[in-house]
Amino acid sequence: VGGLAAGLFVAWFEEAARLVRRDRDRLTALDAAIGDADHGTNLDRGLTEVVKALGETPPESAAQVFAVAGATLIRKVGGAAGPLYGSVFRQMGRMIEEPVTLAGFAGAFEAGVVALERLGKAALGDKTMVDALVPAARALALALRDGVGAREAFELAARAAAEGAEGTIPMQARKGRASYLGERSVGHEDPGAASSALFMAALATVTAKA
Ligand code: ADP
Ligand code: MG
Ligand code: MG
Repeated sequence: VGGLAAGLFVAWFEEAARLVRRDRDRLTALDAAIGDADHGTNLDRGLTEVVKALGETPPESAAQVFAVAGATLIRKVGGAAGPLYGSVFRQMGRMIEEPVTLAGFAGAFEAGVVALERLGKAALGDKTMVDALVPAARALALALRDGVGAREAFELAARAAAEGAEGTIPMQARKGRASYLGERSVGHEDPGAASSALFMAALATVTAKA
């Protein structure tokens, strides 16, 4: 893989913002079933702010892209998901080294997911965004081991995240608002896992275009 340029990651957030806006009502409906019906609007607002911030000061490095995205999500999104996603990207900004390789990206992403797990005290199976992001991180690690390129690796990560999100349907929530529902949270897809799948789909899309 040649270097993954800062511009690719700006495009990532633009595409993620587009997908979240497109699916805003679906995400909010998922949150209406097991939460407080604001996940789509929260994330749409947050990502709109991220795209605006990235446009105002075009970042010179991937580290800067992630730092700006993380800080903006933490600052602008009320609710659980803003600080949680923010912590993923802020940690990625701290860990990523230039020029960004697939291995470097995978390592930073893994570190970002660990930061999220620590902040949310959530593990696999708790019916949260962790259930989409951990499989995505694992898929990237396997792709690296198998020596596939960035395009295919991100495609595999996107598929793993989508399957992970679907896998939250039969789970009972143990973290976040959905956990207040106890057994009644079973049978619904977790909204944060669904938006995480959109993030990974966006990365695959912009990499395929690059
Ligand atoms: P809020 O629940 O504050 O309204 P959102 O609706 O924007 O925030 O986000 C809800 C999503 O956040 C959930 O679907 C879940 O994926 C994620 N989430 C909530 N709490 C946690 C946690 N402790 N750890 C990991 N993810 C969490
Ligand atoms: Mg909510
Ligand atoms: Mg809320």
